[in-house]
Amino acid sequence: MRKLLHTVTLIGMAVMMTACQGKSMPDTYVPGMDFQFFTGGIAQYTEDGAYIRVGDFVYFYDRSTKEMIPLCDKPDCLHDKETDPDRKRKCNANLYMIDDRNYQPFIQYYEGNLYIMYKSLFADGGQRKSDRNTQFVLYKHSGNGSYKEEIWRSEEVVSSFLVHRGSVYYTTGGYKSEEDGIKCNIFLKAFSLDNPKREKELYHLGSNVATSSIDKLTGYGNHLYFSTSISNVLEDGSYEHENHFFEMSLRDYSINELSVPGLSSKTLVNGITFMDDKLIIIPYTVETNSTDEFYIPTDIYEADLDGDNIRSVLKGIPQGYYIKGDGQNLYIDNAICAYMGDPERDPELKYYVYDSDYHMTDTYTISNSLIKNWAWDFPVGCPEWGCYTLNNSAEGVRSAYCWDKKNIGSYDGKELDIELIDYDYPEPYVVQELFTD
Ligand SMILES: [Zn+2]
Repeated sequence: MRKLLHTVTLIGMAVMMTACQGKSMPDTYVPGMDFQFFTGGIAQYTEDGAYIRVGDFVYFYDRSTKEMIPLCDKPDCLHDKETDPDRKRKCNANLYMIDDRNYQPFIQYYEGNLYIMYKSLFADGGQRKSDRNTQFVLYKHSGNGSYKEEIWRSEEVVSSFLVHRGSVYYTTGGYKSEEDGIKCNIFLKAFSLDNPKREKELYHLGSNVATSSIDKLTGYGNHLYFSTSISNVLEDGSYEHENHFFEMSLRDYSINELSVPGLSSKTLVNGITFMDDKLIIIPYTVETNSTDEFYIPTDIYEADLDGDNIRSVLKGIPQGYYIKGDGQNLYIDNAICAYMGDPERDPELKYYVYDSDYHMTDTYTISNSLIKNWAWDFPVGCPEWGCYTLNNSAEGVRSAYCWDKKNIGSYDGKELDIELIDYDYPEPYVVQELFTD
């Protein structure tokens, strides 16, 4: 009886928690909910490992056994070793709905499941559709590999999405011909995972502009963050650009523009990250439109999560340096400058680690051959470790790597220890394999 009561209490609590999501969750870091900012779309971390996409399959990498396991528990399935296209597509670990090789499906882990947005030419079940019928389809993959199911579908282009505290936020829209010319309208919309059919428009950008976009969707605590960029054509044919960064309260959907003290018209908020439940704001001044501007020194700021009480915490950082956080440390790298900037100032790739008091605690380098196109977007991972993949179909490269953070603090400029995750990946995807028309 006692056991039963315990179960009833747990179910009651689970119901309460679901009902309260988004409204009464604490405005602080909650593991499993607020980690999205330090993960890329390729790997999503859990307590025991990470879900990693390599090529057209999603795997769970078990950190203790160092095993890479296709995310499918069907006993009669060979997963990534299936040769029959239809059987391969039905594997729960397979991401075969994608048939646009340039489209990288973004994966998000949330409360035990993976959410993956596909760009699909299939209506459903494998019939090829023309490009005009491209659809964006959100799938839920069970975190234990037991099923995958479609939960939402859109005829509109989905440019980015984020699962945060029980809801899906996404940007959509684009160009449309209207009576007085071509208009670009971009929308930020949301729906609850409990009720995907009830979409809600949160923000609209556009109408009479040449191009516009909403980017950098980020969720943390009861806040959503996004940047906007607009280009207008002036009478003399030149372009005028406008960039903004906003914070939206998820309690009442009120919007605040993020800014830094003494902001000139040429300085914009270029990026954000987080540290100890504080917002880190990264400015950038557009000055010369040449690589010289990478070396304009900038302050880095810390603020409350709504952008208030802003203060400078780091000074004199070249603004071409890239800054990311895992919630415990900040990682600043010179990758863009090392590739495109002044070779005398930045002769090699260098990463600088700062602790939560903004003291530099370590520096390290990474071998070029291990990062390739990740150079300026090397994932910082979660607080304990990080992983990343290299996918290059043209070169037949398919590999995943991980790195442990336990040695951070003792590198002192030496090369980061990176470990290759040993796995025999299938041959790269061949489009013809799928279609008969
Ligand atoms: Zn399978």
